[in-house]
Amino acid sequence: MTGTSHEELFGAAPEGLWAAPGRVNLIGEHTDYNEGFVMPLALPHTTRALVSRRRDRTLRLRSRNAGGGTVTVPLDGLAPGAVEGWAAYPAGVAWALLEDGHEIGGADISFDSDVPTGAGLSSSAALEVVTALALSDLGGLDLAPETVARLSQRAENDFVGMPCGILDQMASACCTAGHVLYLDTRDLTRRQVPFAMALEGMRLLVVDTRVKHAHADGAYARRRAECEAGAAALGVPYLRDVPFEKLDAALARLDRTVQEAVRRRVRHVVTEDRRVERVIELLDAGRARDIGPVLTEGHASLRDDFEVSSPELDLVVEASVAAGALGARMTGGGFGGSAVVLVDDAAAEAVGAAVLEAFDAAGHGAPRVFEAIPSAGAQRLPL
Ligand code: ADP
Ligand code: MG
Repeated sequence: MTGTSHEELFGAAPEGLWAAPGRVNLIGEHTDYNEGFVMPLALPHTTRALVSRRRDRTLRLRSRNAGGGTVTVPLDGLAPGAVEGWAAYPAGVAWALLEDGHEIGGADISFDSDVPTGAGLSSSAALEVVTALALSDLGGLDLAPETVARLSQRAENDFVGMPCGILDQMASACCTAGHVLYLDTRDLTRRQVPFAMALEGMRLLVVDTRVKHAHADGAYARRRAECEAGAAALGVPYLRDVPFEKLDAALARLDRTVQEAVRRRVRHVVTEDRRVERVIELLDAGRARDIGPVLTEGHASLRDDFEVSSPELDLVVEASVAAGALGARMTGGGFGGSAVVLVDDAAAEAVGAAVLEAFDAAGHGAPRVFEAIPSAGAQRLPL
């Protein structure tokens, strides 16, 4: 790390360095809190934590990406509401570890990250997961990656107050280089699916629109409530329990009982789980090129049925497909953030340029375009 060192900030040399990545989701959006399927890959962008242990029961937290100096958090009596702002994420992880009965001690932690924040690339999960892994390792807890993910999600749900599913935390904790993670969020069973090789002759681009619309968190919570209402009206625990083959019958039943919007939310979730299955079938069959149209279809469903897209995200998809991309879709929770675009190597430059041009013509600020290289999940690094 450059700039003021951990030792200068805290008066003690760091004992260890940990890193946790951001992610994009290839397909399977708004399915995780419905106990469905997702398929993320980790980005090379990471949040890093340098940590030194303290003798007292205090956390001191500092981030190069946040102003406001050092945040001091007493571990004893720690409870939701005690910490505001960015430090609620790592403090919430400490709280979740304690609530789960783990012994952790005080620590000084300095964070540094190149995961864009608020871009739908899961900087929040990267921050949580790196904290959980560091505290686990330093405390000799030896937590499994799925436990790191569950505790991180609990921190975000119950300490920060964001009712997210487990996609982001599982991606950051469990992805491996060169693979997408095919994850069943019901029981966290998973398979690493080779993806770098599958992309032979193709690239997966990320387009960060750099726009995050206001009230996104409230809208996310409403979508979640609508899904729960749909499941309740159908008499199933989660929308995962509505098989694709029974979707038409389910929608017919909902016709009379729920709002039109809830019907469409149900249709998105059930068809999206089916799209994840189709993508996995195509990847397993060595037909990665053919996933393009499935991605674009998924975008239409998020735009029209789930209503979580934005004009900028729609424009990325429209402009890139018109310029010859194999497929494109928004990725992450939506309401702004980022999209993924699958392109042939030969078309990558033209597609990127077409997106920039379309943004310029529409009067939007320039998006950031980069390649999604499937990278490693959270890990300890040499100092
Ligand atoms: P996303 O996860 O898509 O980036 P979120 O709104 O879920 O967006 O999380 C972004 C928030 O997470 C930031 O506003 C900030 O509070 C916190 N955050 C993430 N990374 C860092 C970091 N490296 N340093 C400080 N705060 C961070
Ligand atoms: Mg987040």
